[in-house]
Amino acid sequence: MLTGKTALVTGSTSGIGLAIAKAMAKEGANVVINGFGDAGEIESTRAAIADECNVAVRYSGADMTKPDEIAAMVAEAEAEFGAIDVLCNNAGIQHVSPIDAFPLDKWDAILAINLSASFHTIRAALPAMREKGWGRIIQTASAHALVASPYKSAYVAAKHGIAGLTKVVALEVAEYGITINAISPGYVWTPLVEKQIPDTARARGMTEDEVKREVLLAAQPTKEFVTVDEIAGLAVFLTSDAARNITGAVLPMDGGWTAA
Ligand code: NAD
Repeated sequence: MLTGKTALVTGSTSGIGLAIAKAMAKEGANVVINGFGDAGEIESTRAAIADECNVAVRYSGADMTKPDEIAAMVAEAEAEFGAIDVLCNNAGIQHVSPIDAFPLDKWDAILAINLSASFHTIRAALPAMREKGWGRIIQTASAHALVASPYKSAYVAAKHGIAGLTKVVALEVAEYGITINAISPGYVWTPLVEKQIPDTARARGMTEDEVKREVLLAAQPTKEFVTVDEIAGLAVFLTSDAARNITGAVLPMDGGWTAA
């Protein structure tokens, strides 16, 4: 479906982004992966995707808190592949703390990575998409783009911001064959979730098992974690012709969480 096209997925060295990058490559897209991690592991992931899917896969170590590195990442991808056809803004971090104790550097980093980075990538990638008359922008938002939880002020603010940004850009690009949508997962078992369990346990005075049962899965009527492959499947669908009239949407994939 995506043969000859190029997908750039931010935060794709792990979790949801990695699943999206693999899924786009399986559809035939050349892929730019991005994110942090062990250099050797990233290189073997890169090589494995390229090998299995017979596509070009490049790695950019651009830091999503740095607008100049984001601009350079987009420019390099365009220099090599012509345009970014599918832009997936997925990089994200979390910090859990009551607001009056929320560290300033965490607030700034979450807003930069989870919200402002999308503004910077879209701004840079849009002219080439518009010129081609085709583009798909897919944001990894969160159920927290629609509802709140305590102790996640920066994350919830950033994800609500992503929902707003998605709607604005949809209106601006609607006549250029470009769609933009946000996927809003509930809890997905990835390093991001695993890492927040000890802090949540401390903030709520619970054991880690109680956090899993009574905080995480309590929100999800299905009582199951969403999988990274389910999210990647929706991302691939959003690139299809059948999805060309879905734009500006914030699409929950949360086991019924936000229906409650
Ligand atoms: P993850 O920790 O597995 O992956 C995060 C990725 O972002 C990694 O590749 C990491 O290296 C990258 N990253 C972090 N800081 C970066 C920076 N400054 N510059 C570039 N890359 C950076 O987490 P995940 O759960 O796969 O999260 C991916 C997205 O999904 C995030 O936006 C997150 O908010 C969202 N999300 C996750 C869940 C969940 O339950 N896991 C639920 C809803 C939404």
